[in-house]
This record gives sequence, structure tokens and C-alpha cells, in this order.
Amino acid sequence: MNFASTKESNHSNGDDSGEGTWVLGIDLGGTTIKFGLFRGDKLIWRNHIRTDDFESPEAAFQSCRDSVERTLKESSQTLEDLHAIGLAMAGVLDPKAEALAETANLHRWHHLNFRQQLADVFQKPVALLNDADAAALAESAHGLCRANSLVLLTLGTGVGGGVILDGRPIRGANGCGGEIGHATIDFSNDARMCGCGFPGHLEAYAGSAGVIQTANEILKQTEAASALRGMKSLTPLAIANAAADGDAVAIRVIHQTGIVIGRAIAMFSHVVDPDVVLLGGAMTFGGPGTDTGKQFLQSIREECFPRTLVQISSHLKIEFATLGNDAGIVGAAHYSRQVAGETSWPGTAIR
Ligand SMILES: [Zn+2]
Repeated sequence: MNFASTKESNHSNGDDSGEGTWVLGIDLGGTTIKFGLFRGDKLIWRNHIRTDDFESPEAAFQSCRDSVERTLKESSQTLEDLHAIGLAMAGVLDPKAEALAETANLHRWHHLNFRQQLADVFQKPVALLNDADAAALAESAHGLCRANSLVLLTLGTGVGGGVILDGRPIRGANGCGGEIGHATIDFSNDARMCGCGFPGHLEAYAGSAGVIQTANEILKQTEAASALRGMKSLTPLAIANAAADGDAVAIRVIHQTGIVIGRAIAMFSHVVDPDVVLLGGAMTFGGPGTDTGKQFLQSIREECFPRTLVQISSHLKIEFATLGNDAGIVGAAHYSRQVAGETSWPGTAIR
């Protein structure tokens, strides 16, 4: 991660190299609000607050503002020098209303116009985008696998998706573009039901509940000994740990999950033709640097590539995402500069 000295004060609003403009990236999640100050595309400082500590979004945003003002002051800057704000949030973005139509994680603050409230508190323009899009945009511009056409799949309780085309996130006519977790991958009559109420969606197989269901189904089909058998709280982490210890059932669960994800990638690759597909989120079975993570990636590639036109598969990279928890604030900040028309692609690599 790039942490530059904050002592200089050579701010310039019209600097189209992007080195001088201050922007703020905010990632509003169900439990924490993360925020980071960027000068150009360099992360200067970051902080976070807990949403539970505040009665209203205004109170939380006011606390962010106080914290940002103090930090800017240390760099001989004021809020006047802050050019724009990017706000990333989970949920379906209503592109016409410029507000979130639906927030799954913030029940307490349901149906509020966060973008407007944030703009009012800071008296600054705010660019709003979905958090998966923010993460995808961050990886596209600042990750280790930077690419102009990129798809990010976030694996966790749900399966989120962000699609970047020509360096910009796509959301479509109704804010649902890139919702790959709800693409149908099983058309059979006994397809699993997705949490959204429709059958056969990727999320029902590759989200954490889906992976646990796969494990339970495999355990029923085989009599093989497994550490997963009889386990009180079967989780994707327990499956990854068992696989790392050589548990054949756990290895099969991960392989099976890789197959469904590989099929989904093969399908949307013929729509998007991405340079890079990245897998992020909490459920990557150990991720990069572990044998189980590598096996998971291998299962995905081996299923995907033979199903994909050679013009696509010969150059397509399928890798793990690299920006982790910072992806939301990095992507939100990048988007605010993109909307303000002053970003260049690609930006600096951020680790
Ligand atoms: Zn669904």
C-alpha cells in the first residue's frame, strides 16, 4: 500500500495527471464504514468507524467529516481542497434515482438516500456505486492484474459480481448488470433454490450455504471417512482446513464448487470477453499462497477453458483478487475521479 508523506501542500485542482487532486473513498458496509483519503490515485490515509455507534447516517457521516478535516489539516489542507467523494455500498443501485433501491445489510437505515445525505454533510459531489463494482474497478485500475475488461466475482454468503468494460463499471438499465450470482447455471427440475427465490442460480451452489449443501450431499453419497462428517458447524473455512489436511470429501467439495464457477465464467465470458476474471471475497478456500486455493483455481480453469472459444480462452486470466479490504475505498475514490472526468487508466498499482 502506498502511504505518501502528507506534509506537502502542492494541491492543484486542474492537475489532469491526477497527482494533486484530493478525493475521499467511502465503503459503507453493514458493520463498518471504511474511508480513505487519496491524493490522485495514492492512498494517503484510511480510517473506519462502526455503524452501530451511530443513530443515523448523518451522525456517522459527520464523524467521518470531522476525522477527514483533522487529517487534511495535518497536511495544511482544508475541506475546500477535497474535490469529490465516492461512496460504495452493498445493494441494488437505482440508476435513475441515484439512490440505493435496496440494501440487504443495512436494515436499520433502510431506504435512505445515502448519496444525498453524504453530499449534504460534506457539501461535496458524491458518486455512488455498488460495492462489488467498486471492488472490480479498484482491481481493474490498481490491482496486480490490471485490465481494461475485467470481471470480479466476490464469494461469500452471497455471490456478488462487478463487470468493468473499457475501464468503467456497468450496471445496466435497472442497476442489476453484473449480478452474476443470480445467473442460472442449473436448468434441471430439481435445481437448488437461490436465496432470491429463483431456482438454479450460481449463488445457490457457490455461496457459502450452497457450498455447505454440496458437502452434505457428498457426505450422504459416500461412506468414506471425513473430518466433515458429524461436524456441528460445517463452514467453508472448516472445509478448506479439512482439504488442506488431505480430506478427500472436502477436496471434492472444493472441486465441485470450482466446476460450477468455471461454467459460469465460461458462460459470461462470451458476453463480456474479459482479459481477466478475478475471485475475491471471504470464501476462496485459502486463496493465493495455499494449496487448497490453488486447487480451487485449477478446478475453475479446467472447467472453464475447454468450454470457451479459443480466442477468449487463449488469453483469459483467472486469478484471485489482490486488494482485499481496501478494494471498496480504492474503487469508490477512483470512481469519483472517473465521474469528475479526471482519471487516467491504468492507475498506480496498490498492494
Ligand atoms: Zn438468485
